[in-house]
Amino acid sequence: MRKVHIVCDFDDTLTTTNVARGLLTEYAPHDRLAEIRDRYVSGEISFRVYQEQAFDLAGRSVTQLSERAVANASIRPLARETYEFVRKAGGTFAIASAGLDFYIGPVLKKAGLDRAEINCGRVVSDPAQSPPFRYDYPSAEKSCKGDWVTCKCEVIRRLKRDDVENEVIFIGDGQLSDTCAAANAADTVFATGKLLDYCVKNDIEVTGFDEDFEPVIEYVTKVRGGKNVRKRRSIEQ
Ligand SMILES: [Zn+2]
Repeated sequence: MRKVHIVCDFDDTLTTTNVARGLLTEYAPHDRLAEIRDRYVSGEISFRVYQEQAFDLAGRSVTQLSERAVANASIRPLARETYEFVRKAGGTFAIASAGLDFYIGPVLKKAGLDRAEINCGRVVSDPAQSPPFRYDYPSAEKSCKGDWVTCKCEVIRRLKRDDVENEVIFIGDGQLSDTCAAANAADTVFATGKLLDYCVKNDIEVTGFDEDFEPVIEYVTKVRGGKNVRKRRSIEQ
């Protein structure tokens, strides 16, 4: 039977805040953080380089950062129910994030989403060690151009490869790899923030969400119960 998979961004999408930014705001010196942020915004350095330099400035070990992230982060209401529903129906719930494993993994575990597939950047240094860290990017760009840590299109396309009839839903809030995934790879898009604006402006079919995942769980429940009108229409075109 046709499966429904979800590929979900992490910071500000699955979680109600940007966990990485919270850690950096708390620990990194504000003037130096603003300096490298400007270099990223102006296009001088990539997001990946910005993130590495920013966590170097934070001066905390992975263990300390993980604990703080778990204490600070909260998952968007109905996200866990969506995860459970999709998995019970035989689908995959995958996180695709430009962030880093040391805060994403522990936050998912605490929220009970510990069997979600995680695609993100990794710190491979000893967890007790202070920065500079050593990084690994196993989900880096394969099919798209940007230096965005994780190619979300590739995660979506991998899930489609099992069976083209499978539906892959993308949920996100941002720019770059989020807009690329919404425009070029996902079957169905749920968005908030900048991604929602982008989809509306560029005529990409999208459903908005706000405080919780209610529109998402409503949709997956409906799709599993009957025919998917949206998909049939795209095949006819
Ligand atoms: Zn892409």
